[in-house]
Amino acid sequence: MIKGFTRFLQSPGEHLRSLFGPQDASASRPVLRVIPRQEHPVSRQHFSDAALKVLYRLHNAGHEAFLVGGCIRDSLLGRMPKDFDVATDATPEQVRELFRNSRIIGRRFRIVHVRFGREVIEVTTFRGKPGDDHGDHIAQQSDDGMLLRDNVWGNIEEDALRRDFTVNALYYSIADFSIHDFADGVRDIESRTLRLIGDPATRYREDPVRMLRAVRFAAKLDFHLAPETEAPIAELAPLLLQVPPARLFDEVLKLFMAGHGVETFRLLRDYGLFAMLFPEADEAMAELPWAEAVIEQALASTDKRIHEERPVTPAFLFAALLWGPVQQRQKALEDDGMPPIPALQAASQQVISRQLQHVAIPKRFSLPMRDIWDLQQRLPLRRGKRVFQTREHPRFRAAYDFLLIREAAGELEPGLGDWWTAFQDADEHEQRRLLSKAGADPAGSGAPRKRRRRRRKPRKPSGES
Ligand code: ATP
Ligand code: MG
Repeated sequence: MIKGFTRFLQSPGEHLRSLFGPQDASASRPVLRVIPRQEHPVSRQHFSDAALKVLYRLHNAGHEAFLVGGCIRDSLLGRMPKDFDVATDATPEQVRELFRNSRIIGRRFRIVHVRFGREVIEVTTFRGKPGDDHGDHIAQQSDDGMLLRDNVWGNIEEDALRRDFTVNALYYSIADFSIHDFADGVRDIESRTLRLIGDPATRYREDPVRMLRAVRFAAKLDFHLAPETEAPIAELAPLLLQVPPARLFDEVLKLFMAGHGVETFRLLRDYGLFAMLFPEADEAMAELPWAEAVIEQALASTDKRIHEERPVTPAFLFAALLWGPVQQRQKALEDDGMPPIPALQAASQQVISRQLQHVAIPKRFSLPMRDIWDLQQRLPLRRGKRVFQTREHPRFRAAYDFLLIREAAGELEPGLGDWWTAFQDADEHEQRRLLSKAGADPAGSGAPRKRRRRRRKPRKPSGES
């Protein structure tokens, strides 16, 4: 938490009002408000050295330089900013020349990444109106009004109006430490409101991902959507089907891996957005009584781990999101006479290839996801050597956690999870007892030592069942 913000956090709205003085809430047309340093609580102490370095170097080179977006919004809310976005009148090429440690990225939206060790500062050139032709035709729109490229430079005011929400259009000037509020963003921070700048339907058509961003910020900041910002979502949600799957993968991670996954999931479903990202999962939830609980349990456990600063992997989350449809398909294939193991393989394959049309899942996550699914068939097989092979599988831990979630969600009778919990903690004697309880009896087989040696030096699973 930011030092000196305790009071602010207890009553953010009130504190801001007292800091910024009374405002005219009835003003409908936003006007620029410049809030001088002594009238706002945002201090350079809240910013990283890297961010300050970028601001000062741009400033000293004669450019305008502002911090903008989430870092100012979060600072005003008394939250520690998680990353820093800089807006400037310098072009990407000019920024690139000022920082050796930088590179220009993006085509649709060209920006410069300036790297300091593990920290990356995003530097964006002020955007102008997409309709303006600045000679080299750098803004493009699809027939539906979707912005395919947005690389028309402009001034800070135009830039502010191109941003998504009013609370994201607050600029902190490094020249005099004032905050520039172009769209009544401070008022909306006070009332915890997410309000799109401009005509909401047009802004969603330009970039349907803004619907996801609305939900993400609502969950993360505990804000509500302004009625006009909320209204078009139900109708426009299907526009997400036109967004490239790779971009949606990035967004899905931000939605579900930021510590507010359960709330975000609930909002996505309320607004009809979840079905646009995971259509088969959405259908499975309507048919399988446990499918929703599996996802919620996985999200709750992910949220908990994030708050405890423990590692999380998208593979586990995607495994839970798609488990419902995988089980539906597996069952259908088994009903057609396919044995369970190939049925699960085929079902996994089919569900993944369908899903990839909506949200990309890089191989580095889809492969471990499939391992987690495959292991669900191996966890119940608790015969001698097999148990130790399963235990030593690199994805055992994730698969075991997944099993616990399936039990908690009511998909499975509880019991197997407890057995594996006990088995992992047990000494050799206790393990033998558990194995015999599970139906196999290694002591009776007369080869406990041999088994133990095999356990230390695992072999590739042989053909035995
Ligand atoms: P956080 O980083 O905490 O998730 P943020 O508001 O900083 O939130 P970013 O994705 O880092 O979000 O974007 C930085 C800023 O760029 C935003 O605050 C907003 O002003 C602008 N922005 C980002 N994405 C869009 C978009 N799709 N449409 C319009 N403006 C956007
Ligand atoms: Mg940001």
